[in-house]
Amino acid sequence: MHGGSRLSERAFDAVVVGSGVNGLACAALLSRAGWSVCVLERNDWFGGAIKTADITVPGYRHDVFSAWHPLWVGGLAHAELGADLERHGLEYLNTELPTGTLYPDGESAFLLRTADENAAELDRHHAEDGDAWRAMLGEFLPNADLAFGILGTELWSREGAGLGVKAVRRLGRRGAAEYAGKLLVSARDWLETAFRSERAHGLLAPWVLHTGLGPDAAASGYMAQVIAVAVQEGGMPIPRGGGQKLADALVDLIREQGGTCEAGVDVERAFEGGVRTADGETFTASRAVICNVTPTQLYGDLLEGFERKAEGFRYGRSEMQIHYALAEPPRWEGDDRLGNTAIVHLTPGLDGVSRAVNEVERGLLPAEATVVVGQPLTMDGSRAPDGKGLLWIQLQELPWKIKGDAAGEIDVGGGDWTEGLRERYADRIQARLARHIPNLESSILGRTVLSPADLQAANVNLRHGDPYGGSLALDQNFLWRPLPSQPGHRTPVPGVWHVGASTHPGPGLGGGSGALVARQLLQPSLLSRARKLVRR
Ligand SMILES: Cc1cc2nc3c(=O)[nH]c(=O)nc-3n(C[C@H](O)[C@H](O)[C@H](O)COP(=O)(O)OP(=O)(O)OC[C@H]3O[C@@H](n4cnc5c(N)ncnc54)[C@H](O)[C@@H]3O)c2cc1C
Repeated sequence: MHGGSRLSERAFDAVVVGSGVNGLACAALLSRAGWSVCVLERNDWFGGAIKTADITVPGYRHDVFSAWHPLWVGGLAHAELGADLERHGLEYLNTELPTGTLYPDGESAFLLRTADENAAELDRHHAEDGDAWRAMLGEFLPNADLAFGILGTELWSREGAGLGVKAVRRLGRRGAAEYAGKLLVSARDWLETAFRSERAHGLLAPWVLHTGLGPDAAASGYMAQVIAVAVQEGGMPIPRGGGQKLADALVDLIREQGGTCEAGVDVERAFEGGVRTADGETFTASRAVICNVTPTQLYGDLLEGFERKAEGFRYGRSEMQIHYALAEPPRWEGDDRLGNTAIVHLTPGLDGVSRAVNEVERGLLPAEATVVVGQPLTMDGSRAPDGKGLLWIQLQELPWKIKGDAAGEIDVGGGDWTEGLRERYADRIQARLARHIPNLESSILGRTVLSPADLQAANVNLRHGDPYGGSLALDQNFLWRPLPSQPGHRTPVPGVWHVGASTHPGPGLGGGSGALVARQLLQPSLLSRARKLVRR
């Protein structure tokens, strides 16, 4: 049946709770394989942390939350669905200048698109660092399938065990143990051992924030290398017209296959064989219920009888977004490349990121936060009227409950994210930016700031304004995500599956958990494989 009119039947093969990238990717893969699917979304838009809207001045199209799609383009779901999504209007734009870091003294360093360019750029800061870059690639690339494989495999499964076996066959038992040990190194230890220049350290250190870690956390060195290679090889793709195009294309594809996507439907209970909405309607799912939610909601609200299971689950740092509509493009002081770079990090460097993260761990507003300055117009002119400017600013080092200000400037009152506190903190960031972009303040036509509290209010999954679905400390990551007592994507309830940023392989727009669950659901069962063999 086509046309999305299945809602009246309320009976499907699979019901997906939540339309985040993982829910949509899973639904699209299942519907393409012939399953009848229904996606239920409580908000009035599809995409969760994907949304494009005019939130400052009409004609300025802002990616309100997420914006950068290298994880999607490099991920499992895109590999399967990319061609179909292109038919539904999804087009990716890319750049030769994906990212750079600007230091307080006006000097900057860039991560570019080829090994030669990166080696030359790092040599500019220290003559030995170009060779160090090549050495890093020489060590990383031969085992890139293992490094990326960890993020593309259901670890608690035969495939997961297979990845381990592959590592032992290739590297030997000792070699595999050594490789695994190296995955646990912190970004600080890796960067300070590999590169001489602090500019090189400061180029890569801010990127670990995008994986929910800090530069002194276990495994942040591995994540920094994965990102360094992924950005060199894949750039910083974004969809023409805004991130929403990805969610729209996924919804269109699901509907084209006869699936249903309904917004404004809040699911209250999930159980074996279906879900019940807050309005008391029941949707049956004969093969699977897939919940794109946090563990807190899954075990605390949706599933009956597991209220205490996720009690120990911890959320990570909070974040803030600042969106600017500008009357003209930002004129950066310093290196000409800054104005054409998709993402510029403003930070004193590795120690600056480390200090800000530590201040946040202690409940303080950081004195000198790492400012992520996103410039989508460097690739996609359709996001603003001709000749204008638009900035997407992200601050990933904020506490949920604020004990004080590390700079001693802002009175944090009762420690909650009030509108006043939000705007005062944004003013501090703006003043820092204005030191490097002299025309910033004179060209502001509109500014919209989203505090951690605003993020939580916009999407129930962004609990405490944590953009990454829960702390990614080692005990909640990889083999232990989302919960050490329930890792992977199965839940204790038969037929109910868990996807989303809170589950392996974690946050980001890769759609990885949705794809991993779809893959498992579509795998013929052992019984049906045995039957086939007997028939042969
Ligand atoms: C501000 C911000 C910036 C980011 N920037 C980037 C970026 O540039 N690149 C990148 O790769 N990643 C980025 N991330 C991370 C990335 O966007 C997220 O990890 C990812 O989008 C999460 O997807 P998800 O599948 O977990 O679901 P979510 O996007 O969290 O969506 C879940 C959906 O489920 C719905 N839902 C929940 N419970 C129910 C219920 N009971 N009934 C019905 N519906 C329900 C919610 O309303 C929501 O729409 C960013 C995140 C944030 C917040």
